[in-house]
Amino acid sequence: MAGTNYVIASAHQIAGIGFTSQRTRTRMIRRLIDRGIENEALLQVLATVPRHMFVDEAISTRAYEDVALPIGEGQTISQPYAVARMTEILLEEGPVQRVLEVGTGSGYQAAVLSQLVDVVFTVERIRNLLDKARSRFRALQYRNIHTRYSDGSWGWASHGPFDAIMVTAAPAKVPMPLLEQLTIGGRMIVPVGAQDGAQSLTIITRTRDSFSVREESDVKFVPFLSGKS
Ligand code: SAH
Repeated sequence: MAGTNYVIASAHQIAGIGFTSQRTRTRMIRRLIDRGIENEALLQVLATVPRHMFVDEAISTRAYEDVALPIGEGQTISQPYAVARMTEILLEEGPVQRVLEVGTGSGYQAAVLSQLVDVVFTVERIRNLLDKARSRFRALQYRNIHTRYSDGSWGWASHGPFDAIMVTAAPAKVPMPLLEQLTIGGRMIVPVGAQDGAQSLTIITRTRDSFSVREESDVKFVPFLSGKS
């Protein structure tokens, strides 16, 4: 039966990689620690979320290398260090309840966040990627992730405001509706800059009557695009 075959194939995939990859997973965590990631709870989560399930089986043996990998449609799953650093920044002021992610992609970043905050809302503009991410969330039973097919420039106002917003594609300018969906004290983490120029990881905190901005490092993300595809 087709259903049975599918279950066997995916169980085989999980088991196979589980045995062979424990060492590569540990190596990934060690590398993140070497690069300065300190949040223990985050490191725990990164050691357990199965990154190999978020890429195609053909490249799953590379899943624990510290590199971005193709996920189709010209997009990439972010490098583990970028996921770790952005998540660490998101958590640095203490516990976070509601998070909006713009750019679901493979779903990996949302999966990591879902283990560290109360609830994750994530939006993606490419239907095909979102469908795959949704089936991963179902298969892995991440129940506190809510998804939406839309242009994330508009945020997700009906579920806002958010304690944190993470943008995983690089806009030239931060969309205003996203800033408006932050709580007071809420923070946005966003790589800002032109695709062919330098992008900097920017942390924007909403204060009572304005925003404070800090820039952290040069990064390289796929472009933030408008409209749906
Ligand atoms: N967080 C993802 C990274 C994927 S790459 C992961 O962990 O795999 C960034 C994603 O942002 C791409 O899938 C791209 O389609 C999406 N994206 C770019 N501009 C967007 C927009 N305006 N709204 C929603 N998603 C967008």
